[in-house]
Amino acid sequence: MTIDHVPFLDLRRQHSQLREELDATIGAVLDKADFVKGAAVGRFEDHFAEYQAAQHCIAVGNGTDALEIAIEALDLPPGSEIIVPANSFIATSEAVTRTGHSVIFADVDDTYTLNPESVESFITDRTAAVVGVHLYGQPSDLASLKSLCLRHDLRLIEDAAQAHGAEFQGKRVGALGDVGTFSFFPGKNLGAIGDAGAIVTNDSDLAKRCRRIADHGRVSKYDHDIEGRNSRMDTIQAAVLDAKLPHLDGWLQTRRDTAAQYRRLLIDEFPGAGDAPFAEWRKLCAPGELKLGRVSASVLHSYHLFVVRVSSRGAVQKQLREAGIASGVHYPSLLPRLSAYEDHPQSAQAFACSAWPDELLSLPIGDHMTQQMTDRVVEVLAETATVR
Ligand SMILES: *Cc1c(COP(=O)(O)O)cnc(C)c1O
Repeated sequence: MTIDHVPFLDLRRQHSQLREELDATIGAVLDKADFVKGAAVGRFEDHFAEYQAAQHCIAVGNGTDALEIAIEALDLPPGSEIIVPANSFIATSEAVTRTGHSVIFADVDDTYTLNPESVESFITDRTAAVVGVHLYGQPSDLASLKSLCLRHDLRLIEDAAQAHGAEFQGKRVGALGDVGTFSFFPGKNLGAIGDAGAIVTNDSDLAKRCRRIADHGRVSKYDHDIEGRNSRMDTIQAAVLDAKLPHLDGWLQTRRDTAAQYRRLLIDEFPGAGDAPFAEWRKLCAPGELKLGRVSASVLHSYHLFVVRVSSRGAVQKQLREAGIASGVHYPSLLPRLSAYEDHPQSAQAFACSAWPDELLSLPIGDHMTQQMTDRVVEVLAETATVR
């Protein structure tokens, strides 16, 4: 039987498998009515800190707030420059600007994460921090970024919104720099049933400042040290996340198995897809060509997304769609090219990755994928290569 439907993700399936457990845990919050700062929040913070091998976890409203609060808590000089990758979701750069700093875009390499040489070239005497985004679930080159930050006295922030459970040199990401942030947006590898996020760090003073900022600058009920804000994770979200966390490793294993199968089959179908040197890799795809990114030997990828580059992406997506296969584009525009950055000095800057947004293609991946589904996606991709 041919597979005629491959969804991009399937949360209803995931939740129906856990439905009794989720109903019970949500019911317990309703019974207790501890909707804000309830018992499940502290429980999840402890469990998630342990999972990410961090000393502290602060549960907040969402992943964007997590970044903003983490940057604010670092107490950088106002108007500092903070370097972020040119290819990311806008939350990364938004958080820099909204905390009163200047966002500087650096290039990415064939791992789709920050190119440390490019970062170094953008450092000025106003640079105060670097945000390494572990894009698609692949950790940034934290060894190079850390040594560069040490040399230039910069803080290192990990945007790990897509990288729950990912590892760099055998260690879970998040608390490997100064501070790390996570998102539990429903579609992330570990998703809530609404918005939720978290900050992790091994710095106890920084953890205290984050917690205070996220809760109105509160010392005690009506004693406020500073003006903070209101960004606390709902108890219901914490309860759901705590129920889902024990399943995360199994889901990640399915993602990694699917990715291994994709890579193997795609390299068979598109010779040379897997191992071009960066100088070759950065060139545009030739007609019919498909390029895989590089997975660094230092990482354990968490495959939030499985992203390839293809020529004539529109035609490929159409053919996938006609075969019932969902796909995505992450992201259709480099951050500095968005209208939001029209007046940014780097809005027209050339990057190695400048042309990639026209070629990026995200294939279905997640705990819903079967080997037959993965086979079918590659089969259809192979057919599109001949018509392009
Ligand atoms: C999802 C995401 C965020 C923001 O998380 P929200 O919970 O949606 O606010 C930040 N950075 C990256 C890289 C993301 O993918």
